[in-house]
Amino acid sequence: MCLARFSHIGGAHVQHQKLTAESSIVKMDIPGKVVIPMIQHVGVPCGPLVKKGDEVKVGQVIGDTGNYVSAPVHSSVSGVVTRVGPAMHPGGGREESVEIETDGLQAIHEDVAPPEFEGKDGLFRIVRASGLVGLGGAGFPTHVKLNAPKDKNIDALIINGAECEPYITSDYRSMIENPSNIIEGINIVKTVLGIKHAYIGIEDNKPGAVKAMSSAAEKEDGVNVVVLSSIYPQGAEKTLIYSCTGRRVPPGKLPMDVGALVLNVNTVAMIATYAKTGMPLVNKVVTISGGAVMNPMNVEVPIGTLLKDVFEFCGGFKCSAQKVLMGGPMTGIAQHSLDVPIIKNTNAVLAFDGKEAVVHKETACIRCGRCARSCPMHLMPMHIDLAALKADAERLEAFRVIACFECGVCAYVCPARRRIVQAARLGKSILRETWAKEKGQAQAKEKGPAQAKEKGPAQAKEKGSAQGKEKGQAQAKEKGSAQGKEKGQAQAKEKGPAQVQAQVQVQVQAKGLEQESQVEGLQDRKGGGKNGQ
Ligand code: SF4
Ligand code: SF4
Repeated sequence: MCLARFSHIGGAHVQHQKLTAESSIVKMDIPGKVVIPMIQHVGVPCGPLVKKGDEVKVGQVIGDTGNYVSAPVHSSVSGVVTRVGPAMHPGGGREESVEIETDGLQAIHEDVAPPEFEGKDGLFRIVRASGLVGLGGAGFPTHVKLNAPKDKNIDALIINGAECEPYITSDYRSMIENPSNIIEGINIVKTVLGIKHAYIGIEDNKPGAVKAMSSAAEKEDGVNVVVLSSIYPQGAEKTLIYSCTGRRVPPGKLPMDVGALVLNVNTVAMIATYAKTGMPLVNKVVTISGGAVMNPMNVEVPIGTLLKDVFEFCGGFKCSAQKVLMGGPMTGIAQHSLDVPIIKNTNAVLAFDGKEAVVHKETACIRCGRCARSCPMHLMPMHIDLAALKADAERLEAFRVIACFECGVCAYVCPARRRIVQAARLGKSILRETWAKEKGQAQAKEKGPAQAKEKGPAQAKEKGSAQGKEKGQAQAKEKGSAQGKEKGQAQAKEKGPAQVQAQVQVQVQAKGLEQESQVEGLQDRKGGGKNGQ
């Protein structure tokens, strides 16, 4: 059944620029080498399980960690490991990666086989084993998302097919070309987790996807296609939940708090693929587009393929690329090199020509209020902008900068071209730093009296015994002298150096304790400061 539902407040009508909407997904040739980072998800990075010289096959686990909030990394090619170490990462910086020289054979690893699973725990286990993370761009490990706490009653599965960001069409093509796989994935999640209703949210500017998904879902019980108004950021999690169900996720809360679970269309499709074949997440459908690209298209790429190889597959550049983005133009990350790899959550790579990459001059805010009217989180972006520039943590907290999910709408509509998203990012880091500082100070304050209380009796005990020892020695000395001069002198002669030594030791010990306690006091203060930094 096809439903038309609620429309969210705010957002902006952006230019769609879906240049690749009619481009069927093409499988890329296997490149000469791939560089597979050990961190491709939100959570704890994996550690490499292979070393230089090892032979690997497609689907083999090459990185993992014992941590729950993480997802294993698999080889997307067969070949030989040529290097394990830091390499350029699309998120910026260098991350531990495995470089593999491919042999072109694409031999599949022996462990790749359809998994057996039963119940919720079985589903969480196989989803983790598949290395699946949110494929819409978030990159959060899917098994963690599926495993909601027992007290949360999830009754709505929302499938994100909105793909509201300009240029990107990888989800759209998947819905057109393989809708049955998406439905299979929905049915697995729905049945195993006991979720009654599933809503597939698709914007009304994608009639082809609406048609394909509606006909695939026709005979399914409790699976509905929801046609959404095409406005950016319709695909943002909280916006989509409201648009599909009318439920509002309160600030600071999660979708599970309103009984919703949101998964991207390609994420559910991957659950179905893994359940059928056992082939983990090794390839990714990516939109390669932008004015500088010779042949914009949707390409299925082995994870770890370098951008330069993907662009070459698309015919290279027709003019000088002024800006290369990993992701869409609203939320993507600018790249400074083409030697970075495609990772699990890459959904687009855009190369802009001179016209698309224009950076406008920033001018003063004219208080027009457009940014506030457009913000889907009902924030006051102009105040966040100012507070961030002044590093005013109090105002940043008051204007709820933490609720900003960096959609970029405010900056898009701003006539003064204010860099509001950058300001919001800066504001969040200022606020987090302030909170950490306050927490550190509070902990140091709490720790202080408790430590003193603990240390007090121990120090008193030691001091007491040292004093007793000293007193005893002094008494012995006095007693010694009172017992006959000769004996005393003889004893004094014999015992003298030993007693002096003991006394010195006692004094040193006592002083040591004192110094130790001072050092600890300093460490406490230093520790408090450090935490607070
Ligand atoms: S303030 Fe944040 S959430 Fe609001 S429009 Fe700007 S970027 Fe989007
Ligand atoms: S849209 Fe720009 S100019 Fe208008 S109030 Fe917001 S920051 Fe100021």
